[in-house]
Amino acid sequence: MIPASLPWRAVAAHAELSYSTRGDADVIDITADVEGVVSAGSIENGLVTAFVKGSTAAITTMEFERGGVADLKALLDRLVPAEGDYEHNRLNHDTNSHAHQRASLIGPSEQVPVVGGGLVLGTWQQLVLIDFDDRPRERTVIVQTLP
Ligand code: ZN
Repeated sequence: MIPASLPWRAVAAHAELSYSTRGDADVIDITADVEGVVSAGSIENGLVTAFVKGSTAAITTMEFERGGVADLKALLDRLVPAEGDYEHNRLNHDTNSHAHQRASLIGPSEQVPVVGGGLVLGTWQQLVLIDFDDRPRERTVIVQTLP
């Protein structure tokens, strides 16, 4: 929720979307849900932001199909292996430093232009939530539009 004490706000739509993920680089197509939030608002032209709370998940765009998903997972396994000599794991008796590093690399949010009331995405471009944690998680994606 946005505090009511703010003097003025240009937020035309705000929603919190919930997802149950399997973790371990689970990739979820959130495009239709984000489009739904934009449609429920009233902006014609502007910007929509999708942001995931938490330091082991990320949002990006990709062609969401089995091969692309497998290749992205393989790329991140090569770049940031799950097994490794990680300070975060050593100092915190944790096991998911790779998830934190992957999430930082991709980033927690994307902004997409809204034109004519719809998202400007390529035909083969979807908005995806990726959960890198090493266990199933409940995730919240905040979606906000700006005129
Ligand atoms: Zn951790």
